[in-house]
Amino acid sequence: MKFTIHGVRGSVPTPGIEFVKYGGNTSCFEIETCESQIFCDAGTGFRSAKLLNDRKNVWVFLTHFHHDHIQGFPFNHGLFSEGQQISVSSALHDKKTTSAILKQCFSEHFFPVNIFASLNHLSVESFDVATDGLKQDVDVSFIELDHPGGAVGYSFVKENKKVVILLDNEFQKPQLGGLLEFCKDGDLLIWDGMFTKDELLNKRGWGHSSIEQAEEFTELSGVKKTVICHHAPYRSDADIDLLKSRISSDRVSFGCEKMSFYI
Ligand SMILES: [Zn+2]
Ligand SMILES: [Zn+2]
Repeated sequence: MKFTIHGVRGSVPTPGIEFVKYGGNTSCFEIETCESQIFCDAGTGFRSAKLLNDRKNVWVFLTHFHHDHIQGFPFNHGLFSEGQQISVSSALHDKKTTSAILKQCFSEHFFPVNIFASLNHLSVESFDVATDGLKQDVDVSFIELDHPGGAVGYSFVKENKKVVILLDNEFQKPQLGGLLEFCKDGDLLIWDGMFTKDELLNKRGWGHSSIEQAEEFTELSGVKKTVICHHAPYRSDADIDLLKSRISSDRVSFGCEKMSFYI
């Protein structure tokens, strides 16, 4: 599996020279195999992702529907190429609700063109149908997370290799057992590191975890590599570099836009 990060920023895009190193686009991750192209979230990072038209299908799994996770969707030019079948799914809701939410998000009050009502090659599928369609290639599972309005994390497994994405989530102790099981034998974990431990004291209920918790969880879980994403919009490159210098585990790093791994 080739894993590419197209967007690392949390909440809102952050253009500016102080955000160039880590990147200013919001959440979007890509998994590419010989047979499939899979995206997790379609924040503004999705705009520059190249949709591969030699694949059978393009799958987009949404963790939830907050702006920073769907806003880039209609800005990818490949979306408008006929013949390119694109299926969108979320384990957070059934097909009917997912479809209704997306149609509302891209209705004329919020966006000029309702892509979910007008593009025939763009479909919304139930999570069961989506995972069924992919199961010969990649096994996709989900876990419910703690986030206002709800969110789900996903795991993607192909031949003993496992990627887990846990965005957006406010880590709570009762989650520990379930998350450890979900991340068992993980090769790569994407962690919501929006806040520091100190910032989190005043941000209870905002639905995000901390950088320090990424280190603690990695230690407990045995995941081979954890990449912290969903960087706070006010966190400059220099700030992240400083936080990085304080991390002692060589298994924990900070995500940069366009970073790729072969897993
Ligand atoms: Zn978010
Ligand atoms: Zn969110």
